Amino acid sequence: MKAIYEKETIKDPESENDSYSNFTLKRDTVFCCEQFKMYCKKFTVWNYKQGKFGIVDQINYDGHSVRSIDFCPFCGEKIDYLDENTPEKVKRKKVRI
Ligand SMILES: [Zn+2]
Repeated sequence: MKAIYEKETIKDPESENDSYSNFTLKRDTVFCCEQFKMYCKKFTVWNYKQGKFGIVDQINYDGHSVRSIDFCPFCGEKIDYLDENTPEKVKRKKVRI
């Protein structure tokens, strides 16, 4: 499946020279399977700091650690993370006006 996200760079209000990135998963993302889609509806799986899906790996005293995944935990399909603003490598037909 293709996970297309929108990357936004936000200035850190507490520090002038710092900025951080926020990744938003596109709403029209087509999921590889129904299970994963349902899973994403129930839990916050999208990691907006990394621009990847993350699943809880370990639960400990401090909370939990999240591991980013490159493959669907249900059907095993590879997840391609794509920035919507990055042009695709596939050559596009030239459109002349
Ligand atoms: Zn799947």
